[in-house]
Amino acid sequence: MQGVFEKLQQLQGILSERYQIERHLSEIPRRLSTQNEVVLRLRKSYSEKEHIYTNLSEVVSKLRLDLGDAQIVREAAERRMEAVKTQREFEALEKEINDAATEEERLRQDLRKNEQELQSIESSMKVELELITEQEAELEEINKSVAQESSQEEQRLRELVIEESKLTPDLEPNLLYKFESIIKNKLGLGIVGIRSGVCSGCHIVLPANFVNQVRMAEKVEFCPYCSRVLYFEDGDVDEFFTGYIDGDEMGGLIDLVDEDDFEEEEPPTLIDEEMAGDYEDN
Ligand SMILES: [Zn+2]
Repeated sequence: MQGVFEKLQQLQGILSERYQIERHLSEIPRRLSTQNEVVLRLRKSYSEKEHIYTNLSEVVSKLRLDLGDAQIVREAAERRMEAVKTQREFEALEKEINDAATEEERLRQDLRKNEQELQSIESSMKVELELITEQEAELEEINKSVAQESSQEEQRLRELVIEESKLTPDLEPNLLYKFESIIKNKLGLGIVGIRSGVCSGCHIVLPANFVNQVRMAEKVEFCPYCSRVLYFEDGDVDEFFTGYIDGDEMGGLIDLVDEDDFEEEEPPTLIDEEMAGDYEDN
């Protein structure tokens, strides 16, 4: 049985590293596609602006020509003013000049408005172009590091699979299957010791007769609370089976428990609080 525990301990190290690498590798496509999307979105927005810019440039050129024409029309009319003889001619020409001036002013305002728009698009295009360059560089960087990382990780994965295959043939398939899923779900810990009658995986006190069974080590036992494989830790025998632990010693043992290990367990008070909340709501 000791041999089985040792193999499980070794396997635990291999499997938790393997799962960690597999998780990391599986996140790569998402990382890449996120950055790809950023670049694509920026390029799309830039090309839309480019399109607007081209159209607006045409509008501006046309307005400049029209404004020039309107100016010529007005100036020609003004020159004809010198040759005017009758009041009727004068009034007609005056109206013509005023109309031309109004048209000229309208064109000038329109041109100014479009020129401003053109300028603002031009400057936002400049900003976007810088951003695109930046994000493309980042994408390239990610691509490079991902390629390097993945080839290293895949190499390590191959090594781990070989190490794993040296251990697994000696273990019972059912036990192996259970053990693998525990490690996957319990963040790397699949085999833990019993210390002072407490599972050091979930920190729950185990029944004395069950602890005794684990101590006998006739078969592989699983914690009834967290499903981890249990073994009896050396040096615990006297302490536990004398059936007496004094208060000071108890305090000392509690201090030994790593607080981080508690994080994955649900605090039992949570349910009560929720229920209390429900009662208050009703
Ligand atoms: Zn447990």
